[in-house]
Amino acid sequence: MAIKTVSHALSDIGRVRKSNQDSGYSGYQLFFVADGMGGHAGGDIASALVSQRVAQIDGVFASPESAKKALVHTMQEANRALGQTVKDHSELAGLGTTFSGILFTDNQVNIAHIGDSRVYLQRDGELKQVTIDHTFVQRLVDLGRITPEEALTHPRRSVLMRVLGDIEEQPDIDAFTLDTKPGDRWLLCSDGLCGVVPENIMGGILNSHAQAEEACDLLVSEALEYGAPDNVTVVVVDVLAPNVESDFLPSAQYVGSAANEIVIDDHRGNRLLRIFNPRLLPDLLGLSQDPAAYQPESDEYLDYILSQTRAKIRNHRLRQLLVVLVLTLAGVGVLSLGYQYTQTRYYVGEFNGKIAVYQGIHESLGPIKFSHLYRETSIDVSALTPFQQAAIAQTIIATDYKDALREIAALTQVGG
Ligand code: CA
Repeated sequence: MAIKTVSHALSDIGRVRKSNQDSGYSGYQLFFVADGMGGHAGGDIASALVSQRVAQIDGVFASPESAKKALVHTMQEANRALGQTVKDHSELAGLGTTFSGILFTDNQVNIAHIGDSRVYLQRDGELKQVTIDHTFVQRLVDLGRITPEEALTHPRRSVLMRVLGDIEEQPDIDAFTLDTKPGDRWLLCSDGLCGVVPENIMGGILNSHAQAEEACDLLVSEALEYGAPDNVTVVVVDVLAPNVESDFLPSAQYVGSAANEIVIDDHRGNRLLRIFNPRLLPDLLGLSQDPAAYQPESDEYLDYILSQTRAKIRNHRLRQLLVVLVLTLAGVGVLSLGYQYTQTRYYVGEFNGKIAVYQGIHESLGPIKFSHLYRETSIDVSALTPFQQAAIAQTIIATDYKDALREIAALTQVGG
């Protein structure tokens, strides 16, 4: 049975990030999202480069097998192109991107996926995630070691096991085929949507009679309502019977960084210049808002994440409770009491490129910060492995100063 599609793509920088590293594409047979990461200029280049390459295969394929093969092949090709880009521009090292795409062959949808962007199918009022996140916390959920609820709030939930980038020669890409029929509604999104807006709210929007374009608007608006801490990208594809009238005209629609030309700064981006870029100051001060990180698949890291899970989730909840407590206390005019309590806590972070211990909690209430630098160390963060750097960037909570020192000692041992 032949079908036709009505689709739309929308991408928003969100309320916190300074650049949009997501890309999205709504085309003729092909639809996808890509969420770039890494470096300070690399993420947008990675997602745009992969998007522009893969979009070139948008067209009619004779069979699901040939469609899947073409998708995976071009994604591997794009992966090699990223590696080559880093060879030519070493300042972009560590760049990467997720990719989740669907390619229609008649009434079949061929899915290719790597990373933690998602493909959902809304059918008969039910929203179902059809891709599996390639994250360490998802692996722990699959192994039954933590619950899906714990995964939702896990502080390391954005650490990816697989991406397209400059590290793996031949990354493992999921590829499979599902049937589709009129009435189906496909949603592709970056974690700026599904990591922020609860699934029942996403489902409610998709269940409404909003057309694809309006549904995209509503989904992105909802992410903005929820504070949009990350870039948000959505693609909605509605499947219609061929005889249903529609004035929609398919086109190749790029959104996010793929909508721009790829510009890589000349070799002025050397280390010294980059360090003095004022836009990088928040990162240098350990205030980076970007929790996305890539860590190759390894049992050691899985064990590490598991060992941290319960304590970290408790701490996460405690921190949230502390903020609520502080807000409440402020309401009755005894803010100082709450503040003093936060100052009994410590955490490990970064200061001027070195590991440092902070007193207080890594939260702020508008301009009021609840922590200050307590002790500097001489350990260079840049000398640590990417995984250790990711841990530092997200800060490590300690119960007291001694515990903070133990955390530093443990950290420099893990994989050291
Ligand atoms: Ca993201």
